[in-house]
Amino acid sequence: MVSTSVLCLWTIFCLHLCCYVNTGIAQNSREVILLDSKAQQTELEWISSPSSGWEEISGLDENYTPIRTYQVCQVMEPNQNNWLRTNWIEKGDAQRIFVELKFTLRDCNSLPGVVGTCKETFNLYYQETDTEVGRNIRESHYVKIDTIAADESFTQGDLGERKMKLNTEVRIIGPLSRRGFYLAFQDVGACIALVSVKVYYKKCWSIIENLATFPDTVTGSEFSSLVEVEGTCVSDAEEEADNSPKMHCSAEGEWLVPIGKCICKAGFHQKGDACEPCGRGFYKSSSQDLQCSRCPAHSYNDREGSWRCDCEDGYYRALSDPPSVACTRPPSAPQNLVYNINQTTVSLEWSPPADSGGRNDVTYRIICRRCSWEPEECVACSGGVGYSPQQAGLVDTYVTISDLLAHANYTFEVEAVNGVSDLSRTQRLFAAVSITTSQAAPSQVSEVIKESVQQRSIQLSWLEPQQPNGVITEYEIKYYEKDQKDRIYSTVKSKSTSATVNNLKPSTAYVFQIRAFTAAGYGTFGPRLEVTTKEEPAATIVSSEQNPVIIIAVVAVAGTIILVFMVFGFIIGRRHCGYSKADQEGDEELYFQFKFPGTKTYIDPETYEDPNRAVHQFAKELDASCIKIERVIGAGEFGEVCSGRLKLPGKRDSPVAIKTLKVGYTEKQRRDFLCEASIMGQFDHPNVVHLEGVVTRGKPVMIVIEYMENGSLDGFLRKHDGQFTVIQLVGMLRGIAAGMRYLSDMGYVHRDLAARNILVNSNLVCKVSDFGLSRVIDDDPEAVYTTAGGKIPVRWTATEAIQYRKFTSASDVWSYGIVMWEVMSYGERPYWDMSNQDVIKAIEEGYRLPAPMDCPPGLHQLMLDCWQKDRADRPKFDQIVGILDKMIRNPSTLKTPMGTCTRPISPLLDQSTPDFTTFRSVGDWLEAIKMERYKDNLTAAGYSSLESVARMTIEDVMSLGITLVGHQKKIMSSIQTMRAQMLHLHGTGIQV
Ligand code: AMP
Repeated sequence: MVSTSVLCLWTIFCLHLCCYVNTGIAQNSREVILLDSKAQQTELEWISSPSSGWEEISGLDENYTPIRTYQVCQVMEPNQNNWLRTNWIEKGDAQRIFVELKFTLRDCNSLPGVVGTCKETFNLYYQETDTEVGRNIRESHYVKIDTIAADESFTQGDLGERKMKLNTEVRIIGPLSRRGFYLAFQDVGACIALVSVKVYYKKCWSIIENLATFPDTVTGSEFSSLVEVEGTCVSDAEEEADNSPKMHCSAEGEWLVPIGKCICKAGFHQKGDACEPCGRGFYKSSSQDLQCSRCPAHSYNDREGSWRCDCEDGYYRALSDPPSVACTRPPSAPQNLVYNINQTTVSLEWSPPADSGGRNDVTYRIICRRCSWEPEECVACSGGVGYSPQQAGLVDTYVTISDLLAHANYTFEVEAVNGVSDLSRTQRLFAAVSITTSQAAPSQVSEVIKESVQQRSIQLSWLEPQQPNGVITEYEIKYYEKDQKDRIYSTVKSKSTSATVNNLKPSTAYVFQIRAFTAAGYGTFGPRLEVTTKEEPAATIVSSEQNPVIIIAVVAVAGTIILVFMVFGFIIGRRHCGYSKADQEGDEELYFQFKFPGTKTYIDPETYEDPNRAVHQFAKELDASCIKIERVIGAGEFGEVCSGRLKLPGKRDSPVAIKTLKVGYTEKQRRDFLCEASIMGQFDHPNVVHLEGVVTRGKPVMIVIEYMENGSLDGFLRKHDGQFTVIQLVGMLRGIAAGMRYLSDMGYVHRDLAARNILVNSNLVCKVSDFGLSRVIDDDPEAVYTTAGGKIPVRWTATEAIQYRKFTSASDVWSYGIVMWEVMSYGERPYWDMSNQDVIKAIEEGYRLPAPMDCPPGLHQLMLDCWQKDRADRPKFDQIVGILDKMIRNPSTLKTPMGTCTRPISPLLDQSTPDFTTFRSVGDWLEAIKMERYKDNLTAAGYSSLESVARMTIEDVMSLGITLVGHQKKIMSSIQTMRAQMLHLHGTGIQV
């Protein structure tokens, strides 16, 4: 009866079961199934105890696949205890096991006659073991999991309505510690069909998240636990810095809370869950970049997976350049480089390069080289050179370079550099200038020592300035009384590095400052030095003459007057003809000190370390191909002098004189030869011979000068003896004086002014020539050695220059007086054939050349003034020009009646040695005055003795058939001199 009913029940179960299995739950991907009763089609063979309890029954699922179920329905009898135990389940990694039960449970109410015995629950147990145990079920070994009740039970009445429900209950066990376990179902009198038992645990399955692979991970033992799992980057990916990939596996088998990530390495980009290489022509420089980028400008690559692109030829990437920027190249040269020289400081300015190379980090650097004139002789500038703001890394386009050497040639290269300049092996591009520093004034005299201090004098000494920048010719010591309100300065000059300042007041504080002077002018005054003179002994009575106050006052006032006089005198003196006498000791000092502002100063080429540089500073280098040599016109010391033509580009060709340097010259000869050009090149005056240029870079070395058609003045006058009017001659003299005024204004002392060194052009314009230093004089055939040393053209030279080589513009004035005499006597030799010794002696005794024949007295007076013994008494060239101008403007002042030429103020020769006695005969005399051609004329006319000759008149001379006016004048001039000598000798006058 019971079994029938049970079978009947099962049928009902089965019908309902089939309905529900059809709607079965899809396999959860996070689950790892340890037991699934449904999946097994063969008998489960679980252990049922007692065997009359749970019964294994086969059924079919919706696909007619057999399934295995267990049923029990002992509802009619009390005290049921039916156990069903599964096979041993190995748990594997699991810690937390899910047990899903699907079952149907019959409602006791729907069963008639079961009150008291029918139950509606069953119990679920488990037993942990490491291995399988026997088939006996020991209840005490089992741990109860739960009492399972149906959510919904069913009744018989429901059958027709198909309301039977399949219950699903899930229970969780764990944490488990043994290798495996059994599940057991205890029925205590219910009517149950156990449709399926599924035992599983949950796992987080391996995934790739954020380019990291996370392995299969079993969930934790607790419901709330999260298992932290480290990810492994996929290939060609790397962990993000300080952000390694992690995930958390939840109890539900879900990956939660991703932390960190992997990123594709440089050269790779992400595609899905993998990293792929960048294609050709693309790069990815960093793992941080998301995408591969196309190669930047001027770069390329031809392989996959590149982190950077290579630069094209000639293009570079600076170390600091990221791979994402274009490849660049060094900039082109700076443009429009200009310079400005201020003594020994050079300012350079330029424009940025046309091509920055594609960069915006262009800076500039300066390369300084000091050069000799041969370009290969450039050397890097020494460390003493200063650059402002700096030498390299210049951001702005200008620099000031200071502390260069004076008179030195420098080359400055301005190079634009950018971040890739140092990587490039291509030729450097720069803008360059070659400059020559000008003369700099000396630096400060800063180290002054008190040598001795007296009541009225103080002796100081000092060191030469650190940078003399030339030859220091003197020092100026400026001083004033410290407590004096007006601060009237006094100055003292010294040629050495010490000086004694006299005429000071006792017990008085004085302030001293010293400065040095070179051809470039004065340096700045050094620091002030305060010195107090010693106290005067109380007993000393100061006379009014010695009173220092008076002396100082007189000195100060006199000094001031002289200063004012000199300053104004210099300017006004150009218009007035009176001679002003300069202070005897201080004329040169004042000459230097009060040089007319703005006047160019002559620079001595010898102050140049390399005289070659001086040549190129003052003389233009000519291309030898512009010069055509035509014929030899003279012989100079260094080689032939030729005439020729100069054809400069864009100019008409002009006649020139070409001085050549003979082959086989020594370096010294070359220097001396070119020295003349260095001097001549500094001058620019219509009465100073003009230098066209030099040829130093070819052979022969040449100096090219304007052509002076009539050659030297002395020869020219001799050739045209007596052929010019006085006005013409004075015009020539005026020109020479103007040339000399210009030279003296420049501070140039000629030392060898003579008619032979004056050149005459086709318009009778006279120009001063023959420049040079000592060599000019050495080279002069007129120059002889004097006792003072050195060669001197005695007849042309002032006494002080002969005696102690004091050459000044004032000694040039003396020479000028001789030139006047030469001109007015048509090239007569000064002092005729007197010996040099006799000339020196005569001059020393006060004798001077007499006026040449027909010489206007004013002119002779001017000559005599030029020959004043005291050089301060001689006129300045400026005054000479003025006097001559006046004469030219008033020709009447130049009139001299024939034969009434002024006699010399003093006879020329010493009385004890009457010169005419040296002429033993008329023939001797004619020979001496180079008029021997008229010897026969005189003999024929009966002039056999010198006495008879001395009585001759101009008419007598003319009657002899001497028609040339110049010759007539020459003979008459000599006769006059002869008469004067006789007059002195005999104390008798001879009527002319
Ligand atoms: P110097 O070497 O200056 O003494 O010159 C030698 C000679 O060459 C002079 O005596 C002149 O006859 C002649 N000479 C020099 N320079 C010139 C010139 N510029 N024009 C014409 N002849 C000149």
